[in-house]
Amino acid sequence: MAIDRFGRNIHYLRISLTDHCNLRCRYCMPEDMTFRPNAELMQDEELFLLVKLFAGLGFDKIRLTGGEPTVRANIVPIVRTIAQTPGIRSLTMTTNGVLLGKLAAPLKEAGLQRVNISLDTLNPDRFKKLTRWGSFDQVWQGIEAAESAGLRPIKINAVVVRGYNDTDVADLARLTLERDWQVRFIEMMPFGGATDLQKSNVVTTAEIITRIENAVGALEQSKDVEMDGEARIYKIPGARGEIGFISSVTLPFCAACTRARLTADGKLRLCLLREKEVDVLTPLRAGLSLEQLREMILDGIWHKPWGHGLAKGEIATNRVMSEIGG
Ligand code: SAM
Ligand code: SF4
Repeated sequence: MAIDRFGRNIHYLRISLTDHCNLRCRYCMPEDMTFRPNAELMQDEELFLLVKLFAGLGFDKIRLTGGEPTVRANIVPIVRTIAQTPGIRSLTMTTNGVLLGKLAAPLKEAGLQRVNISLDTLNPDRFKKLTRWGSFDQVWQGIEAAESAGLRPIKINAVVVRGYNDTDVADLARLTLERDWQVRFIEMMPFGGATDLQKSNVVTTAEIITRIENAVGALEQSKDVEMDGEARIYKIPGARGEIGFISSVTLPFCAACTRARLTADGKLRLCLLREKEVDVLTPLRAGLSLEQLREMILDGIWHKPWGHGLAKGEIATNRVMSEIGG
């Protein structure tokens, strides 16, 4: 079991399969983003070995992310191998949905259980403006394909950015009236190369709730589950689905954190919003024994930072979100 010095049992690993992406969301990366050469990324066999190692340390929950995980070569066989790794009970993915039209069914068949799909607005023009390269229709088809394939329950992630989609939150929330989806609103966070946008256009959860309640009436706190991972869960009374709020800036959930991240280039990142990392890929390539790697990972987890310092203006600047794996 991997325990940190605050007694948290860390058993959830988010793996960035690649820093590459087929979109260029304004809150995530610049349009002329430079990506790492493939040789610097974990190769399939290295990835499988590390997954086995983490599973042996009690990690039972894996989320594949990026960058865009679906643009990684061999994504279906990768999912199959991870799903079949002894000890892995939960295997999910966060994706922009662009390629789900063709990949949802094979991914489900390979053992993927669920997907979180990013969709920041239902307005096609504003969707294009926010993602720069995205097509709303294509992503919507991807969501439908995911639902038909049984990658359920569908969770939708919307990062709210003032001036881009802050007026669209009520329409997104209304999706839950007819659909048993979880629509989650995310406070924008600042990262490496933090753009002015990330710092100045944040919309707080409190404001998002006010905007939604002004349109649909008072939300009720979900009776079934108060927290779902990092999301605080509410409902529109009578709705089939739920609304979640991920308030990393104004209401962090660090005390309940059970996660660690593996970056696309094989660094164990202990907190999304702290720079501390342990390089596991270089020692693996240098021939370190599995036992020594295990010790390195356990030591890294032990020193996982308590939480982030956004409230004090501390920003982790060594990487952008797509490299770490959101
Ligand atoms: N490409 C996939 C996607 O967009 O869903 C997975 C990777 S993306 C980095 C993971 C999540 O991080 C997405 O839901 C995205 O909206 C969110 N995200 C990206 N930049 C963010 C930021 N600056 N603040 C908060 N969330 C962000
Ligand atoms: Fe790509 Fe996801 Fe970042 Fe958008 S949020 S640019 S889809 S990695």
